[in-house]
Amino acid sequence: MPAPELKAWTSASLGNELYAHTGKKWFVEDIPYKVKGKSSNKHVQLICPDCNKKFSSSIRSLFAGSGCPACKDKVLYSKRKQINLRLDPEYTKKLSEIVEYWSLRGEFEFMDFNANQADLKSDVSFSKFIMESAIKALHAHLRNQERIDAIATWIHEEKEDDAECPEVMTLCYEYATQEWGEEEAALFFGTLWPLALSREEEENAIKNVDPELLYQKKLLDAFNEKANKAKHSQSPSTKE
Ligand SMILES: [Zn+2]
Repeated sequence: MPAPELKAWTSASLGNELYAHTGKKWFVEDIPYKVKGKSSNKHVQLICPDCNKKFSSSIRSLFAGSGCPACKDKVLYSKRKQINLRLDPEYTKKLSEIVEYWSLRGEFEFMDFNANQADLKSDVSFSKFIMESAIKALHAHLRNQERIDAIATWIHEEKEDDAECPEVMTLCYEYATQEWGEEEAALFFGTLWPLALSREEEENAIKNVDPELLYQKKLLDAFNEKANKAKHSQSPSTKE
């Protein structure tokens, strides 16, 4: 069974099961409030399906894949991912030059992150540093995209005719405060608001399509996905 769409569990009909993006089913002990999106900082009590231990997690961390703290330590090491890259000679040479220069200088900054001595030790440690810095930066960008998505969803739910009327903005700010906490809402909302307005407008263009047609399209997409999967895994043992 596919994980229900986000909307299904963020609404009041949340029930007591929660699917994070991993497709894993988490049992929720209590839902004391209405959760309005996966960027939510709200904490829920969860029961780990693997070890049965209870733990508390924010919706956001659950979706970020941090999962059960008891199981996390057990798999932490094996979860380190080895990435094998073969750089072309041109890049190998450039990399060596960069590392040589900055290791002599003893300091290096990339995307607002400072390298330490260990990062500047070799081409490999340096590559790890720039890759992790880039991932941190991209992940911060992702968080902001999720915040924009969240506000755009609230706008869509609350606006009647005019998305830009002050009441809608007040309501959305209220949701942001509930979901992210006061500090985060105060820090981000003003900058995100115009972006969320245009995001909502963009998505509304799609939503205006006849739901019947969208449903037919959805079935077709699912059919295509299934056909592609079958094509890629044509082993008799994996047949359902
Ligand atoms: Zn566990």
